[in-house]
Amino acid sequence: EFIQKYANHPTYIPPRGPQLHARNWQAEAALRMFLNNLTDEVAEDPKRLVVYGGIGQAARTPEDARKIIEVLLTLEEDESLLVQSGKPVGKVRTHPEAPRVLIANSNLVPHWATWEHFNELRERGLMMYGQMTAGSWIYIGTQGILQGTYETFAACGRIHFNGDLRHKLLVTGGLGGMGGAQPLAATIAGATFLGVDVDPERIKKRLETRYIDRMTYNYEEAKKWVLEAKEQGEAISVGLVGDIGDVLERLLKDNITPDILTDQTSAHDPINGYVPNGLSLEEAALLRLSDPAAYKVQALQSMARHVGFMLELQRRGSRTFDYGNNLREFAKQGGEADAFNIPGFVPEYVRPLFCEGKGPFRWAALSGDPEDIRVTDEALKELFPENTHMINWLEQAEEKVAFQGLPCRICWLGMGEREKAGLLFNQLVREGKVKAPIVIGRDHLDCGSVASPYRETEGMKDGSDAVSDWPLLNLMANTAGGATWVSFHHGGGVGMGYSQHAGMVVVADGTDRADRCLQRVLYNDPAMGIYRHADAGYETAQENARKFGLTL
Ligand code: NAD
Repeated sequence: EFIQKYANHPTYIPPRGPQLHARNWQAEAALRMFLNNLTDEVAEDPKRLVVYGGIGQAARTPEDARKIIEVLLTLEEDESLLVQSGKPVGKVRTHPEAPRVLIANSNLVPHWATWEHFNELRERGLMMYGQMTAGSWIYIGTQGILQGTYETFAACGRIHFNGDLRHKLLVTGGLGGMGGAQPLAATIAGATFLGVDVDPERIKKRLETRYIDRMTYNYEEAKKWVLEAKEQGEAISVGLVGDIGDVLERLLKDNITPDILTDQTSAHDPINGYVPNGLSLEEAALLRLSDPAAYKVQALQSMARHVGFMLELQRRGSRTFDYGNNLREFAKQGGEADAFNIPGFVPEYVRPLFCEGKGPFRWAALSGDPEDIRVTDEALKELFPENTHMINWLEQAEEKVAFQGLPCRICWLGMGEREKAGLLFNQLVREGKVKAPIVIGRDHLDCGSVASPYRETEGMKDGSDAVSDWPLLNLMANTAGGATWVSFHHGGGVGMGYSQHAGMVVVADGTDRADRCLQRVLYNDPAMGIYRHADAGYETAQENARKFGLTL
């Protein structure tokens, strides 16, 4: 009956309201968030169980999805479900303060951790790609990356444009699940925006969810719109259908130099993500199946061409940065030797936040009622009245963000703040001020949960970029602390072989047990970011360690 109503492949719908379907709220929370990842409004392609980020899935097959649901519906408080690359493989005996689900996705012994080996296993049905929050069931739609993208663009504005992005043109590629946050983040930051995607359906989805203002298939029309808007200092966003390489080539010919230039095509996956220059979407889909090796060669060459144009625009003055999709590495493999002359966004703009234990804290209202998010927003504003940056962000988000699936909120919070926020939400649930429990999680792209030398840990002060003991310690700390589900993945946003990262979700269900778990997990998790950066020699992290009394 439950499957018929909520999980009749490919139609997945998270139950809403205060009624339990599982045996406890911890399992119910995992169940609802799993279904939320796959629901139509949230997932990029529910038929293939693809949530976002190229082939980032929530479960390996529809049968596995069904089995996961069946197990969650009957899971007791002294049991935990084991999920191996999207397949439920067993239960272990645990206890009420242990995670209810233990997830490992796409992990391979390092020597074999290549796309080639992974794809072979995937074709044989032995693995799936977990991306970051796809396989760990805490993807919340494009909003999940919105604030991070906004913070990045705003930091770029502060550093290079005196904090004012009006009359500035930002150009990028890729308007998919995550890349689709760029237009709204750019306009909130005050810039004029041009985004290019080969797939018109992706741009239409951003129009429907109000992330982008206009769409066109015509380069001249897009150019006219953005140049006029830039001239007038109007923050509008335009989505242009096309190949990003071709559009950059035309901008160069027309002597148009964007003020800011980046990219979020799914370059991390040269077979299932990036579409080679010169191929239609249909031709790309056929070639991918008939000759993946030839596809890869074409994709790498196209990325080299694309990055070549980026480098030329950089020389002409565009502030150019890599946006976490490993485009530089694959462009280099495709023949662009200078690809790494483009800096990465973390060392440029985000690391100072990581040193404060700040990162993409997020929460979802299991009631399904947007009013519950409004209540949490207000409560946070009261809790941190001095944090005007956060209050400004919440007000912008309330006005501009359309919810996808279960109502949710992203808000970067740091050490100390996350714990206070979690306990406050638990109190709201306990007192019935919200109608059902609140799920609290984060992206794996956080201060202490990733090893990714071309992204989160690029250019670490002590050279420890590739050391992945840290995300493993993060996983262990969150498991021991009592998160409601935890995950460890390989690959994420930069692809197989290039990163390892841990995820966690913890549920505020209004109980004393939840208070204890929240207090531990939401202390330990950002503390890992401070330990990681203090150990690498960052002075602000060392100061923060002292400020928060961490035992270094
Ligand atoms: P996605 O697969 O949902 O979207 C990628 C988009 O790129 C698609 O819409 C596709 O049509 C488009 N595309 C592919 N080739 C193109 C080309 N040649 N020209 C124009 N458009 C093209 O992926 P996503 O979730 O949006 O993620 C985008 C990338 O960013 C991924 O590599 C992902 O791993 C990475 N990522 C970065 C961050 C970050 O914080 N910076 C976070 C998450 C993901």
